Amino acid sequence: MNEYDSNRIYDLAKQIDYKKTDNHKEADCYVINTCHIREKATEKVYHDVGRIKKVFRNKKKPIVVIVGCVAQAEGEILLKEEKYIDVILGPQSYHQFNESILRIEKKSKKINYTDFEVVEKFDTLNLIKNSSSKVSSFLTIQEGCDKFCKFCVVPYTRGSEFSRSTSELLNEAKDLESNRAKEITLLGQNVNAYNHNGEKLSDLIINISKLSGIKRIRYTTSHPIDFTDDLIKAHSSCHKLMPLIHLPVQSGSNKILKSMNRKHTVEDYLELINKLKKANPLIKFSSDFIIGYPGETDYDFDLTLKLLREVEFINSYSFVFSARPGTPAAKFKKIEASVAKYRLMQFQRIAEDIKLKYKKSLINKNTTVLFENKMKNKKDEYFGRDEFSNPIIVRAKHNLEGKIRKIKIISGNQNTLFGEIIEQDETQEFAA
Ligand code: SF4
Repeated sequence: MNEYDSNRIYDLAKQIDYKKTDNHKEADCYVINTCHIREKATEKVYHDVGRIKKVFRNKKKPIVVIVGCVAQAEGEILLKEEKYIDVILGPQSYHQFNESILRIEKKSKKINYTDFEVVEKFDTLNLIKNSSSKVSSFLTIQEGCDKFCKFCVVPYTRGSEFSRSTSELLNEAKDLESNRAKEITLLGQNVNAYNHNGEKLSDLIINISKLSGIKRIRYTTSHPIDFTDDLIKAHSSCHKLMPLIHLPVQSGSNKILKSMNRKHTVEDYLELINKLKKANPLIKFSSDFIIGYPGETDYDFDLTLKLLREVEFINSYSFVFSARPGTPAAKFKKIEASVAKYRLMQFQRIAEDIKLKYKKSLINKNTTVLFENKMKNKKDEYFGRDEFSNPIIVRAKHNLEGKIRKIKIISGNQNTLFGEIIEQDETQEFAA
C-alpha cells in the first residue's frame, strides 16, 4: 500500500511542478514514506533524515516530509526531536501534501496533519488520474481495520474500515488499463471486508474483469472471517482472478489465536481453505506467521508447524513477535528472546523446504506468465510472474513487456524459476 500511496503522492506533487529526480543529492524536497509494522521504524526515520542532513550540510536545506504510519503514530515526537523535518502527514492526510509544501516554501512553521480524513483524501485523489504505468499495478480499494488484533497497529494508524465507491474504483482501474496495466492487485488492510453500499469485493472483481485490457486480478490482504461465499464463488467463476490467496493465519494454536483476538480458530481456517479448494482446485495459499507470541509454549509452536505442513503454503512470511507501542500485546509478558529466535529458525527451515519442494515440482511443467519488465543489465532477459506469482525469467529476442506467454520451466531455485517460451500467442489459461 505504501507503493500505491507513494505513486499517488507523486501524482499530487506534479500539480505543483515537483518532479522525481534520479539524483537525490540535488533534491528540493524529500518524502519519506514510512511503515510502522516492524520494530525500529522510528529509528530508521531518524537515520534517513541524518543521511539527508549530511548530504546538504553546505547546501540549501531541502523540504523534508515524513508520511505514512510512523508519521501517524510518532509525528509529534519526530517533529520535536528532529528539527530538520518540516512536515508530518499521516496516511489519511496526504491529500494535503501540496498545500503543506507551498506553505513550507513560504517559510510557514512546521506542519503536522494526522487526522483521519480518508473521505477527503480519496475525494482529492479521484480528481487526479492515477499515472502508475506498470504492467502490474496496485489499486487501494479499502483502508483501515476494525478487527483490533492485539499485536497490530493498523487500527490506530490507518483508522477504521473504509471502502471506496465502486464507481470511483472502476474509473481508476480504467486509468490503469489505459496506462498499460495488465494486472491489478486490489489492496486493503482488510481487503475482503470491502463493502460499499452493499457492493462487495466479489462485485468489484467481476466489474474490473470486464475491462478487456486487464488480464489478471489479485487482492491482498484478506482476513479469514471476512471470506464470504460470494468471494469463494468468484474463484470458480472469474477466470481473471488469480489462484493464489494470501491468507494470514498468524498461529496454529487456538489458544494463541484467542489471545491475539484473531476471531477465528484453526478449524475455521482449514474449513475455509477446503471451501476455496473446492471452488478452484488449483488454488494455493501464502500466509503470515508470528512466532514467539506472548504465552506461546512449545506445544503451541508445534501446532503452528503442524498447520504449516498441512496446508503447504507456497510462501510463508514469518517474524518473531515484536511489541508495537500502544497495542494491548505490548503489555503482555514476552517469552525469552532466544527461544523465540530458535523457533523462528525452525519454522523458516521447514517453510523453505516446502517452498523448495514446490518449486522443484514445477520444473519441466508448462505455465502462463505475464511479463512485467526487461531485467536490468541483462540482455534479452525478461521478468514475469505466473498465476501463482512465482517469479520467472526467460530469454527472448523480442520485447515481452506486458505480454502473456505460455512457457516451460527448465530450472530454478526456491526464489526464481527460469523458463523458455513455448507459445508465442497471447494466452491466459488456467482452468477453474
Ligand atoms: S486484521 Fe490485520 S490489519 Fe486488522 S488488526 Fe488484525 S492484523 Fe491488523
